[in-house]
Amino acid sequence: MGRLAQTEGLTDIQREIVSTVRGFVDKEIIPVATELEHRDEYPTEIVEGLKELGVFGLMIPEEYGGLGESLLTYALCVEEIARGWMSVSGIINTHFIVAYMLKQHGTQEQKDHFLPRMAAGEVRGAFSMSEPGLGSDVSAITSKGVRDGDDFLLTGQKMWLTNGGTSTLVAVLCRTDEGHPEGTAPHKSMTTFLVEKEPGFGEVRPGLTIPGKIDKMGYKGVDTTELIMDGLRIPGDRVLGGTTGRGFYQMMDGVEVGRVNVAARGCGVAQRAFELGVDYAQQRHTFGKPIAHHQAIQFKLAEMATKVEAAHAMMVRAARKKDTGERNDLEAGMAKYLASEYCKEVVEDAFRIHGGYGFSKEYEIERLYREAPMLLIGEGTAEIQKMIIGRRLLEEYRSQG
Ligand SMILES: Cc1cc2nc3c(=O)[nH]c(=O)nc-3n(C[C@H](O)[C@H](O)[C@H](O)COP(=O)(O)OP(=O)(O)OC[C@H]3O[C@@H](n4cnc5c(N)ncnc54)[C@H](O)[C@@H]3O)c2cc1C
Repeated sequence: MGRLAQTEGLTDIQREIVSTVRGFVDKEIIPVATELEHRDEYPTEIVEGLKELGVFGLMIPEEYGGLGESLLTYALCVEEIARGWMSVSGIINTHFIVAYMLKQHGTQEQKDHFLPRMAAGEVRGAFSMSEPGLGSDVSAITSKGVRDGDDFLLTGQKMWLTNGGTSTLVAVLCRTDEGHPEGTAPHKSMTTFLVEKEPGFGEVRPGLTIPGKIDKMGYKGVDTTELIMDGLRIPGDRVLGGTTGRGFYQMMDGVEVGRVNVAARGCGVAQRAFELGVDYAQQRHTFGKPIAHHQAIQFKLAEMATKVEAAHAMMVRAARKKDTGERNDLEAGMAKYLASEYCKEVVEDAFRIHGGYGFSKEYEIERLYREAPMLLIGEGTAEIQKMIIGRRLLEEYRSQG
C-alpha cells in the first residue's frame, strides 16, 4: 500500500476489514477484471467471495446478522473494490442503499423480513427512481401506485436500474396521490414500494417485466435495465415504513449515503489510474530516459497524486459526518462532485502517459477510461451536486445586509 489515500484515526477493526478487502481485490478481482469486463460477464465468483467476507452486510446492524459497521468503513471498502473493478462496487451499491433505507425507515416487520437475508447476500437490492423521461428531476415521476383494497396497483416505466436483473428486491419510487389534496408539492405524494421479484429477465412476477440489459460503453458486467409495471399488485405492508407520501424523503436519504459511495468509487478508480500511470512512466523510455524523468510527466504525476489525496480526504469527511448522525448533504455533494471530476481527470492523465498503448484493450487504463464517465452521472450529475451545494451555502451564509 502506497503513501496516498491513508485514513487517520481508524479502529483496529476498521483497519483489519479494509485490509482484508484490499487483499481480496488484489488477489481475486484485479487479475480477472479486464477480461470479464471485455466479455461483459457478471462476476459471479467475485460476488460469492464478497458474500463470504460479509461485505453485503457491512452496515446492516449485528442484530440482523450484519457487521454493524459505519458508513466510513463501508466507503473505504468500496474505494478498495472500485480500485479493482468499478462494476463490482456497483453491484454492492444499490444493495447497500436499499438496506440502509430499510434500516432507517422500514417497519419492524420489514426489517425482520429483509435485513437478515440481505446481510447474507441472499436477497439483493436495487433501487429505482429514474424513468425514460427523467433522472435529475425526481419530482416529475409519473409511475403511479393506486390503492386497491389492502393492496396497491403499480403502473409505469422505470429506467436505468443498476442490478435490475440480478436483484430480488427493488425499492421503487411511485406517485401515490391519496390523501393529498390537489396542488400538494409533488415530493409529498410519493411512496417507496418494496417490490420482491425473481432474478432474471422477462416477466419476473405478474405485472412486472425486466427487459434485457442495456448495452453500455463501460460499467460492464453489472446489469443495468428498464423495469415495466403494468398493474403490478403490491400488498400494503410493502410500503416502506408503512405510510404513503414519504418516499421522496426516504429516497433522498438513501441517495445521500449513495453519494458518499460514488465519491469512494471515484477515489478507488483514480487511485488505480495513478498506480498504472506511475508504473508505466518508469517503464517507458523516450529520448534516452524513462518518461517519468521528463518534468512534464512528473508534473502530471504530481497533479494526479494531489487529486487522489484531496478526493479521498473529502470522501472520508463526508462519511464521518453522516456517521455522527448529522445531515451531510453539503459534504456528500462536494465529495461526489470533486471525486468524480478528479477521477475523470486522473484517468485521462494516466491514459495520456500510456501514449498509444492506452488505446489498446490489452492495457487496463482503456477500461478505466470507459468507466470513469459513469461516475459523473450516477447519484446526480455535477450540475445537480452544485445545485445542492449552492442551496446549502446560501442557507449557511445568509446575508445580514
Ligand atoms: C449506468 C447508469 C446506472 C444508473 N443506475 C441507476 C439506478 O440504479 N437507479 C436509478 O434510479 N437511476 C439510475 N441511473 C440514472 C441516473 O441517476 C440518471 O441518469 C441521472 O440522475 C441523470 O438523469 P438523466 O440521465 O435523466 O439526465 P437529465 O436529468 O435529463 O439531465 C441532462 C443534462 O442536463 C443537466 N441538467 C438537468 N437539470 C438541470 C438543471 N436544473 N440545471 C442545470 N443542468 C441541469 C444534467 O446535469 C445533465 O447534464 C443510472 C444511470 C446510468 C447511466
